[in-house]
Amino acid sequence: MVEAPRASGAQPLVRRVWQALETVMDPEIPVVSIVELGIVRHVGLREDGRVHVGITPTYSGCPATEWIHRSIREALFGQGLAGVVLETVLWPAWTTEWLSEEGRRKLEAYGIAVERTPSGQIACPRCASQAVERLSEFGSTPCKAHYRCSACLEPFDTFKCI
Ligand SMILES: [Zn+2]
Repeated sequence: MVEAPRASGAQPLVRRVWQALETVMDPEIPVVSIVELGIVRHVGLREDGRVHVGITPTYSGCPATEWIHRSIREALFGQGLAGVVLETVLWPAWTTEWLSEEGRRKLEAYGIAVERTPSGQIACPRCASQAVERLSEFGSTPCKAHYRCSACLEPFDTFKCI
């Protein structure tokens, strides 16, 4: 099931779940919530009477997934929302298109490049130079690659899937 993240937000219970999810920060980028990151695919009340939450990891082998699931359960439990069913949604794969505007802004302020230029080039999140050099397949986490800007010499990470 794929639906716009907030399409089912009319029910008060579902809205409360969204509010709790907005307090769960990404373990690797603690400035953005998992909602801003766009990894919450759906929240819905199902026929079994339980709320189902679908989460797409930013990278299929992401070791942070377990941590995120635990944090979600804690946040929901803190709001008196027990018995929520967490589903991992691997398809379609997460892309930076799913970032909220606010999430995008926060990531760039944090020094993580999220946009490619129209020509498909990665640009430095600080000075927008396209003269960048890939230093490592792995950045601060396995989900990211590490680059350095040849113009301003700043190192930065990018999401691998952009
Ligand atoms: Zn730069």
